[in-house]
Amino acid sequence: MVDHRGPHEGVKHLSRLNLLYLLKNDNLVLREIPLYSKRMIPIPKYHQSLLSWYGLYQRQLPWRSLPGQVPDPYHVWVSEIMLQQTTVQTVKEYYLNFLKKWPKIENLANAPLDDVFHMWQGLGYYRRARNLHKCAQMIHQEYKDTFPSEEKALLSLPGIGPYTAAAILSIAFNKPATVVDGNIERVMARLFQIETPLPKAKKEIQEKAASLTFQDSPGDYAQALMDLGSSICTPKSPACSMCPIHNFCQAFKKNPEDFPRRAPKKIKPTRYGTFFWIENDKGDVLIEKRPDKGLLAGMMGFPTSSWKEIQEQNSRPEVRLIDEESLEKGVRHTFTHFHLIGEVIIAKSRDTDGLWVSPKNLNNYALPTLMKKIRNAVQEVRQ
Ligand code: SF4
Repeated sequence: MVDHRGPHEGVKHLSRLNLLYLLKNDNLVLREIPLYSKRMIPIPKYHQSLLSWYGLYQRQLPWRSLPGQVPDPYHVWVSEIMLQQTTVQTVKEYYLNFLKKWPKIENLANAPLDDVFHMWQGLGYYRRARNLHKCAQMIHQEYKDTFPSEEKALLSLPGIGPYTAAAILSIAFNKPATVVDGNIERVMARLFQIETPLPKAKKEIQEKAASLTFQDSPGDYAQALMDLGSSICTPKSPACSMCPIHNFCQAFKKNPEDFPRRAPKKIKPTRYGTFFWIENDKGDVLIEKRPDKGLLAGMMGFPTSSWKEIQEQNSRPEVRLIDEESLEKGVRHTFTHFHLIGEVIIAKSRDTDGLWVSPKNLNNYALPTLMKKIRNAVQEVRQ
């Protein structure tokens, strides 16, 4: 559709057909761009506004490559896995420590799983750490330490779902892919005033997001939307007057906080369990590795009963207990699908089987947050 007529006529043609000059490999190329999306967002202007803003205000994050640098898929992948369910602020330190310990994917692949759990302590959702390790081993063995850059191959790897695959494709390989994280979901729901409540709206949001994906610079586009969602289009009190895309937003000057709509929350059930802080004569405490399947799989913890929705006389640890005493204050912890109320029993045992650890060395083991709460509850009464 390049105009071959005289320059004057060419200008007219440009405005009528909505052609855009793009700088590619130091050459100016002319490209025709669809003028309006189905919901009447003038796409080129939208991209231009958003990406200009991103050029000025993008966040400096440890996993982001600097201008002119080629992004490292390993960095993008580790950060995206850590950022699931976790805030950017929390992830920064974990990410830097992780990369310091395992600068290359082969280092991570060759690390013991327990070390990975240990580095992951406090980030929660430990299945991510397990899958991260498994995925590193697969890339090391099957792809010779080179991250695949095809969606199908990425989706076949442990822990990589459609979101993470899209993030890796767009950010690390600059391939067109539609990334929809929580921030982008919110921006799209507001841009298009999507009335369907989440989670049912996810498909619609994905389609709307796909209709706006910027083919020429998908990585910058995805990160621009992420940054917009985190700094301007925030869940509460979005700064609409500073928003570079407010001209395209249907919720602007209306009620943006009401989007995305959400289905009423289901009430989480409460489960009950008993945890045992068992000491031997030396003052060492008994810890054990949790089963390979289920919650906190493969992590270290204190012996515990099963966790059930009815309070009952729970199962007992295998060692024989003496001098049992129940802590007045137990522990509370919330998992994705339920709340847990735990009674903590302090007891002694003369049995020697199992792993007995000095309380001051407990930090050397990958204790999940729940188990740390139990340790803290015991230490509190001892002070
Ligand atoms: S105008 Fe307001 S609601 Fe719309 S995208 Fe911008 S910040 Fe979000």
